[in-house]
Amino acid sequence: MIEKTNLIFKNGSVYTVDKNRTWAQAIAIQDDKIVFVGRNEDTQHYIGTNTVVIDLDGKMVLPGFVDSHAHPSLAMDFVGNISLYLLDSVEEYKRAIEEYVADHTDAEAYRGGGWADTLFPNLGPPKEMLDAIVPNKPIAIMSYDCHSFWVNSVALERAQINKDTKDPEGGRIERDPETGQPSGTLRETASDLLKGVIPDYSIEERKEALLAYQEMAISAGITMSHDAMLDMQSIAAFRALAEEDRLKIRFRGAITLEPKQGIEGQIEAVLNESSTNDHPNFQVHTAKIFVDGVVEGGTAFLLEPYNQKPGFRGEPIWDPKKLNDACTALDQKDIQIHFHVIGDAAARITLDALEYAKMTNGRINSRHLVTHLQIVEPDDILRFKELGLIGVPQPFWFKIDDYYTKLALPYLGKERADRQYPMQSFIDAGVIMASGSDFPVTIPFDPLIAIQLGVTRSAISGKTGKVLFPEERVSLENMIRSYTYNGAYANFLEGKNGSIEVGKRADLIVLDQNLFEIPPDNISKTKVLLTLVDGIEVFRDPAFPRGNS
Ligand SMILES: [Zn+2]
Repeated sequence: MIEKTNLIFKNGSVYTVDKNRTWAQAIAIQDDKIVFVGRNEDTQHYIGTNTVVIDLDGKMVLPGFVDSHAHPSLAMDFVGNISLYLLDSVEEYKRAIEEYVADHTDAEAYRGGGWADTLFPNLGPPKEMLDAIVPNKPIAIMSYDCHSFWVNSVALERAQINKDTKDPEGGRIERDPETGQPSGTLRETASDLLKGVIPDYSIEERKEALLAYQEMAISAGITMSHDAMLDMQSIAAFRALAEEDRLKIRFRGAITLEPKQGIEGQIEAVLNESSTNDHPNFQVHTAKIFVDGVVEGGTAFLLEPYNQKPGFRGEPIWDPKKLNDACTALDQKDIQIHFHVIGDAAARITLDALEYAKMTNGRINSRHLVTHLQIVEPDDILRFKELGLIGVPQPFWFKIDDYYTKLALPYLGKERADRQYPMQSFIDAGVIMASGSDFPVTIPFDPLIAIQLGVTRSAISGKTGKVLFPEERVSLENMIRSYTYNGAYANFLEGKNGSIEVGKRADLIVLDQNLFEIPPDNISKTKVLLTLVDGIEVFRDPAFPRGNS
């Protein structure tokens, strides 16, 4: 006898993302599981007196989206504090900072995030601009890409950063070229010097920010998110929310490792968090390694010199020898590694380190993640497949925009700027690609925007229709797969999530139009109407009708 189910979807265009890329009309869900996928007429047996039946009227159903690289735990700077995200000019920055400071005169210090290097090429933003607004308390504002901090003179003084302070390993204190004085921007590990100068966010603030992220995520159809940069405070906030049963989607995450600290103790910490955090909606099994920085900060590690700085190739945050040893030790313990890799030289030393680990350990744990991949040599792409690595691109960035014109072109030169962010070459080489947003680096972070950009590689508002690296355009099928099944795979959850198949968890979304029936330029205009996680409705667009039982 067939069980009567709680929920049935009928008359849908269900793209299952199973192995055969099957389409179906109907789905039956019992509790948290999918128990039937197939034709409308075969759902009859599943309908009981308490079954809710939703007529989809042709609407599209997909597995829930997986964001394989995001920073929910950095939402504080976007949703509270001084937020410069989404602002376009230095004037707007000034106004936003002034307004915030005027509204918070009692604060001991100020924090925020979101400024862009496009507005302050080379040296980054100057301390004087902040000094004029905040002359006697410290203020630190993180760049939108999270790799630099803009600070005022009081913050520099309290952190004891002056003319004589050496750049720390893996970091740079930007300086006035004439006086040698710190100019107000701290790159990469140089911002660690601010510890204790700017008060840390409380667990309560962190929890509120995570919940704000979660609301944005479910309305964008995201049912799983990988937080790619956790520290102990953000883990505590996640854990508290898990214990309070307030996490509606599945979070997985990676703990950031520091090159300066010993690797053994850090491995201990990852293993400890991995066994302690066992809530289905929050687990940490991954270690994060920043191999280099970012092109816009001049901190990406390149095979050939920067275009605007002859002879300078940047340097790795982890020196190659240390990277070899860390990768070997982590892989030996079967810990997944999530690598931040921007430059082609960073990609190469990462591949070398993993080959070294494979040789030393006699085997390699597959499914290490390599994210960003801005510039990669074609020969190195083939090595990703051999090592079983997963590529984690941010398709939101596949376009010719201000970043391309003001930073990529002058910093990288045209030849390299025009071959940024390959994706199809990885797919051709047989590499599994799991896309992510890098929120809050990318806002908004709706997967449908990324899917459109992956297909078109052209700016959404672009009237010129210029395409970045046209050969690297990816099919709609592969873009959807990179945001669903491959994301589940990247988090070791493909057995239970990532596709609409009998026995899997009911994590799925309803869209207002079938992505395969519209021009690619309209993909990002598609609306998410319903998001289910474990068969539970976590988001519904007010316009979407409820089912009738
Ligand atoms: Zn990131």
